[in-house]
This record gives sequence, C-alpha cells and structure tokens, in this order.
Amino acid sequence: MKIGEVAQVIGVDAHVLRHWHDMGVVVPDRAPSGHREYTDEHIRRLRIAQACRRIGMSLAEIRGVLHRGEAGRGEVIEERLRWIRSQRAQLEDAERFLEHVRDCTHDLLTRCSDCSRYAEAGPHADRRTGVALSAVIARH
Ligand SMILES: [Zn+2]
Repeated sequence: MKIGEVAQVIGVDAHVLRHWHDMGVVVPDRAPSGHREYTDEHIRRLRIAQACRRIGMSLAEIRGVLHRGEAGRGEVIEERLRWIRSQRAQLEDAERFLEHVRDCTHDLLTRCSDCSRYAEAGPHADRRTGVALSAVIARH
C-alpha cells in the first residue's frame, strides 16, 4: 500500500508516516520506484504506534515497544506503567475530591477540613487537574 492510502486508512497525515519512518518507528519497504510500500504488518505496527501516541509516549519509547531488541525497552515500559498508575491515582483523588465538593455543606470550602485536606495533600502534579480544581475551589 502506498503512503497516501496508508495515511487515509490510519487517519494521520503522510508527513507523520514519513517522520515515523525517519525515526525508525515503522520502516516500510521500498518499491522498485523508490516509493515507500507498506504491508499489512506495517499497518498493524502503525496502529500500535498510534495507540502508544494516544497515551503520550514519545517516538523513542514507541520504537522500544515495537522492537524487542531495543536497548532499555523494559525500563521504558516500566516507566510508562508508573506514569499511568500515578495518573490514575491522581484522577481517583480528584474524583473523590469533586464528589465531596459536590455534596459539601460548608458555605466556605476553607472551613471544611475535608476540602482543605485535599488541597494540602501535596503535589498533585498534574497541572490540568490543578487548574480545573482551583476553578472549582474559587466557585465553591
Ligand atoms: Zn467540604
């Protein structure tokens, strides 16, 4: 399959596929004409690469996932698993906090020890969650 068709099937721009090729993520065959030629196997790998991109992995990390021989592969995967678990823990904290805020009967959030405790609980490092929560606190 030619790069233009693959781009349509996968739903990315052709330049992205060329970049992934240059970075060694998914390296297509070359047709005698010199054009990139993608097999079904390449397309399966591209879909895996896409799934990895959706969870925020870098191209170097994705190369590690796709190529068993890649140096540091296990560490890359463990690091991403730690990140995912940390994100999940933060989201669960945020969920509990918001469920509490929704039902909290204090007129001022700062007078509620449960509300305050969440804010003091430490580095809730995810900035997006932080911004969203400060908006909630301001309105509370
Ligand atoms: Zn409260």
